[in-house]
Amino acid sequence: MVELKSNDQAKKLGAIATFLDIPVTVSTHKILNSSKGVIHSRDLRCCSEEEMVEELSGVTHTRRSKVRWGEDKIQTDTVILTFGSPKPPSRIRAGYLTLNVRPYVLLAMHCYKCQRYGHGKDRCKKPAAVCVGCGKGSHVECNCSADPHCVNCRGDHTASSKTCPKFLEEQAILRYKAENGCMFQQACMAVVVELHKMIST
Ligand SMILES: [Zn+2]
Ligand SMILES: [Zn+2]
Ligand SMILES: [Zn+2]
Repeated sequence: MVELKSNDQAKKLGAIATFLDIPVTVSTHKILNSSKGVIHSRDLRCCSEEEMVEELSGVTHTRRSKVRWGEDKIQTDTVILTFGSPKPPSRIRAGYLTLNVRPYVLLAMHCYKCQRYGHGKDRCKKPAAVCVGCGKGSHVECNCSADPHCVNCRGDHTASSKTCPKFLEEQAILRYKAENGCMFQQACMAVVVELHKMIST
């Protein structure tokens, strides 16, 4: 895999059919070359998701956010856009409107079986479940009355606490990834370096 700095470089590389006399095919990486952003506008209320893809330049997919209203789901004025570029633009033009684009930051994935971050319960490879409250196994189904003990940072809060330093670190990595259009490992290194700087100053 090769990382390129510009579309120009990509075009030149795309024209290559052989490398050291070996036939090669050059294609773009669909996930790394896409990013997501969020817009909020009342003026796009009447536009369908398909119409927005046609109208908004550089956008490959749109999804209007919905909220539950009793039994139904109702549409909101918030739209999640997928761009065909590694980083979302900060603004986008929609007809006569210029809309601010916020990077789309995912919520850190928390496993409710082993209580660790980075995967969901259905993908958990740990053989035994752990209590979200006290961090011990065997009584996962009941309401735990023991003192809270976080399995991720050993702090005195539950493993699903939004104040847990491990949760905040995971969230900072996802934010960095969304804002800078890089892979999770790169974002992880950048955030660790930043945290290290903060601790040592
Ligand atoms: Zn797990
Ligand atoms: Zn417990
Ligand atoms: Zn914690």
